[in-house]
Order: sequence, then C-alpha cells, then structure tokens
Amino acid sequence: MIPAAFAYERPASLDEALGLLARNGDAKLLAGGQSLLPLLKLRLAGAERLIDIGRLRELRGIRELADGGLAIGALTTYRDLLDSPAAMRYRCLAEAVPGIADVQVRNRGTIGGSIAHADPASDIPAVVLALGATLVARSSSGERTIPADAFFQGAFETALRPGEILTEIRLPGASDSVGSAYRKLAQPASGYSIVGVAAVVGRQGGGTGAISMAQVGVTGVGDVAYRAAAVEAALVGSDGSASAIKAAAAHAADGQTVASDIHADREYRAQMAGIYVRRAVEGALAALG
Ligand SMILES: Cc1cc2nc3c(=O)[nH]c(=O)nc-3n(C[C@H](O)[C@H](O)[C@H](O)COP(=O)(O)OP(=O)(O)OC[C@H]3O[C@@H](n4cnc5c(N)ncnc54)[C@H](O)[C@@H]3O)c2cc1C
Repeated sequence: MIPAAFAYERPASLDEALGLLARNGDAKLLAGGQSLLPLLKLRLAGAERLIDIGRLRELRGIRELADGGLAIGALTTYRDLLDSPAAMRYRCLAEAVPGIADVQVRNRGTIGGSIAHADPASDIPAVVLALGATLVARSSSGERTIPADAFFQGAFETALRPGEILTEIRLPGASDSVGSAYRKLAQPASGYSIVGVAAVVGRQGGGTGAISMAQVGVTGVGDVAYRAAAVEAALVGSDGSASAIKAAAAHAADGQTVASDIHADREYRAQMAGIYVRRAVEGALAALG
C-alpha cells in the first residue's frame, strides 16, 4: 500500500499547472485522488511526477450561463453538486450523485476527475452523455470544447490530449419540457455501476404526446460509457407506452462487447442493461408529469 516515489508539485494557478504539464510530459494530474491514489498505492499505475491541481479554486464551483445552461468547474466535488440547487435541477444528476461511493469519497472526488478518468463503471460519464454536455479542455496553447459523445473513447481513454486539463463541464439548460432519471444496479461493496443508465426524454406538446427526443447514456456495460443510439432511435416517434419502452430497451447493449466479471457475467449484465434502460426511461417520463 505504499506507492513508488514520485516528485510532487502544487501549482498556485491554472496557468502554472498548464506550464508544469507542458514541461513534464510524464506527469499525472492529481485532483481529489479517489481513483489515482489507490492505483498508485496498489502500484497498478505509476507516476514520475504528480501535479496536484486539487486546491485550484478557479476550477471549482458552479455558475449559471446566460443561455440558461450550467458551467461546473472540473474540481467541483460530488458534495458541492449535492449542495447546489442549480445542479440538482438536473434530476438524473441529482439521482446519480448520492449513489456514488460513500460520504468520504463524495467529499473529495471531483466531477472532472470522474470524467477524465473514464472508468467504464463510473456513473458521471453516463449522466453527461445523456445530458449532451460539452467538456472544456485547456492547454498552454489554448482552449477547446469537446462534446461528451466524442470524449469517452475506451476504458480509461478520453479525447484529452497530452498537456490538456479538463477545466469545465457545460450542461444545456434544464428544461421543464424534458424529464430525466438515473437508475443503477450497484456493486454492493463499492457502489460502482454494474449497469448505470441516465435517460433524458421529452414528449411533443408535453403531457401525453409522442416522444420527441431521447438521450440515453449507459455505463458499466461496455468497455466505456456510451449513448444507446438504437434505444434512442426506437423511442423517438413512439407513444412512450410500456410496450414501446420495453421494445426500445431490448436494444440497450446493441453494438457493445458486454463486460463479464466476478460481479456479473455477460448474459446477466446484458439482461440488466435492458431492464435498467427501461427503468430509467420510465423514470424520465414520470418526471415529465
Ligand atoms: C471506495 C470507492 C468507491 C467508489 N465508488 C464509485 C461509484 O460508486 N461510482 C463512481 O462513479 N465512482 C466511484 N468511485 C470513483 C470516484 O468517483 C472517482 O475516483 C472520482 O470521482 C475521481 O475523481 P478524483 O477527483 O478523485 O480524481 P483523481 O483520482 O485525482 O484522478 C483520476 C484521474 O483523472 C485525471 N484527472 C483528474 N482531474 C483531471 C482534470 N481536471 N483534467 C484532466 N485529468 C484529470 C487524473 O490525472 C487521474 O488520472 C469510487 C472510488 C472509491 C475510492
């Protein structure tokens, strides 16, 4: 449980952190440490140098955008999210965060750390996929934005380039004309998702009209969190009845190599994917009223 020796830097500003990262290609960023430190202690990962960005106030906090959306700093902790009425208006986020780990991890773990780490069983990737979030990355040569559905590229692999820091997560405005929900089958010891599903769904004219939009993010099932495109296509234009949702949910794992491990074998996990997609979509429609 003792990590190999590493150099440690604690920059006082984002610019200083970006400069350090640009000069030290072998360095790893440390945010809340809830994934990285266990990996280092177990020697499943190594780092020559850690750049501790965990105390950069400029990357922490939540602000409302002029277009009605929300900008969440990458170092915003799960606890901060739970304390923010603006963040908790996004029901799928409000339902996902309390189920992440335990109170100690939620006090230190950051939304940006979860997204940048891209663990195939983490909850937040499914939420930002379903919400159609935009991720902001900065390097010493500038800033760029990456849509969530282009960000997660494989297990622990993202679209971040060397020298980039994820700085902000932008959510589109929370609207009363769409409902959202998060449902998960949790691994009982850690809380990680065996299957986790975020759904954002709207109906034409609100009430009982046909389904006009559906965005479904799934985690825990494949080698990386993904948008369930076949489910979304089957839902849009349907009447949103129980049978239509069940038929759409049957496509939950389409195109995925379904994971198999000691907690859930491939067949069970694939079946649970369908069930939890159905529950999340039903929850999102119920939230619409
Ligand atoms: C006991 C336990 C139970 C857990 N259960 C759950 C669970 O139920 N659900 C769940 O989703 N997660 C769970 N987690 C994981 C936890 O949510 C993540 O570890 C955490 O959110 C990652 O954020 P962090 O700030 O701790 O990142 P760190 O551990 O500091 O960093 C993780 C990785 O991301 C990189 N990184 C961090 N921030 C940035 C950034 N801004 N820009 C670029 N790269 C960055 C780091 O270099 C590192 O490679 C659990 C963890 C533990 C220890």
